[in-house]
Amino acid sequence: MTESTFIKPDYQTEDETKAGNYFVSNYPPFSFWNDEDVPCVSSLIKSPSAGSAPLGVYYHVPFCRKRCHFCYFKVYTDKNSNDIRRYLSATMEELKTYAEMPYFKGRKPKFVYFGGGTPSYLSAKQLTELTNQMKEILPWDEAEEVTFECEPGTLSEKKLEVIKQFGVTRLSLGVENFNDHILQTNGRAHRSKEVFSAYEFARGLGFDNINIDLIAGMLEETDGNWSDCVDQVVDLSPDCVTIYQMEVPFNTGIFKTMKEEGKLSAPVADWPTKRRWVSEAYSKLEEAGYTVTSAYTAVKDPNATKFIYRDRLWAGADMLGVGVSSFGHLGGIHYQNLTNIDRYCDSVEGGNAPVRRALMTKEEERFIRELILQWKLGTVNEEYFHQKFGISISDRYSTILAEWKGRGYLKVDGDNLILSRDALLRIDSMLQGFFLPEHREARYV
Ligand code: SF4
Repeated sequence: MTESTFIKPDYQTEDETKAGNYFVSNYPPFSFWNDEDVPCVSSLIKSPSAGSAPLGVYYHVPFCRKRCHFCYFKVYTDKNSNDIRRYLSATMEELKTYAEMPYFKGRKPKFVYFGGGTPSYLSAKQLTELTNQMKEILPWDEAEEVTFECEPGTLSEKKLEVIKQFGVTRLSLGVENFNDHILQTNGRAHRSKEVFSAYEFARGLGFDNINIDLIAGMLEETDGNWSDCVDQVVDLSPDCVTIYQMEVPFNTGIFKTMKEEGKLSAPVADWPTKRRWVSEAYSKLEEAGYTVTSAYTAVKDPNATKFIYRDRLWAGADMLGVGVSSFGHLGGIHYQNLTNIDRYCDSVEGGNAPVRRALMTKEEERFIRELILQWKLGTVNEEYFHQKFGISISDRYSTILAEWKGRGYLKVDGDNLILSRDALLRIDSMLQGFFLPEHREARYV
């Protein structure tokens, strides 16, 4: 049984959780990114940037203490300090090569994002050296936001002090659940005690924005436990709460076990239950004063707490992706770096661009990309798209919008197309209709 003949992704999301990607994170689908377009990236950066898109930097740390059973990223849990040193130095070479190119001359990042993997896996010393070098190569003194993803069990007060010192404004804690049995069952490395101590240290240090991630529908999740998790988040009162519904892509440990056992459905809650859990969480958060600002996010004070990385990226910003597997988007070209750490390092050390696949997008594809990403915010502004792309969403997608209105998913308020909560919680399964015909049946990855 091969992956492609096993189970199709469950776009309907009406019932059981089947294997496949549900979350739509980019467009056109990754399966259309290719070798032929790779040279477009190096051609583009030889000329000054023609547009006015803000620039961001995504820096990837591919190391983790343990591989979670639901993880679908390429992560390394067995690297020693020499391997890590080699990687960090290759990433700085990569950044330097970009920074010297005309496309980046005179531009400073408006946002920086450290993602993974686990950025907080790096030691305080490694982080200090790394960020000092990054700032020398491409100063980020104009960045409006610096986000740093953390696994709670890797954080000490000293490390958090260093993270605060080098300029992180948005600290994102991958809590996922507060129950130690569920954390263990899902292969997480941390336990709830570490969440509380990390949170307390971080609060004490005065980070502008602390985010807590939760996952609705981990293995063995129950109604009672989920409700308890949400209560604990409300008690901690972070600035931002992000909730994902568990999906089971083909390269996860959970899928491997399903395949071995010949199961078609993943042993996690079905989609209606996961949506109900997120809905209940949002209701509790709203009662506690939070505002739901996207399909996955609630914030305590929408005027004070922004998520600039997301908002800029979803509005077409340039993003320089650095590191193994990193995704970038420059001047309308999507690209992804090599996904094997040794090949990535070899390539950079050999003086070559470590890009694995790319896609030179067409204007229409960029329009669709922004539109599908902005649906996830719950409100799409017609005038914005008309101004930027000269396209009327109401005219072009009259059939889809009429259907959504008929189902009670959509209402119109002036130029704003506003999704109902029910629609927002299933938005990733509603986006296929916007894809160009040639992209609809594609595997997403
Ligand atoms: S911590 Fe995150 S990146 Fe690392 S294995 Fe777990 S899910 Fe994957």
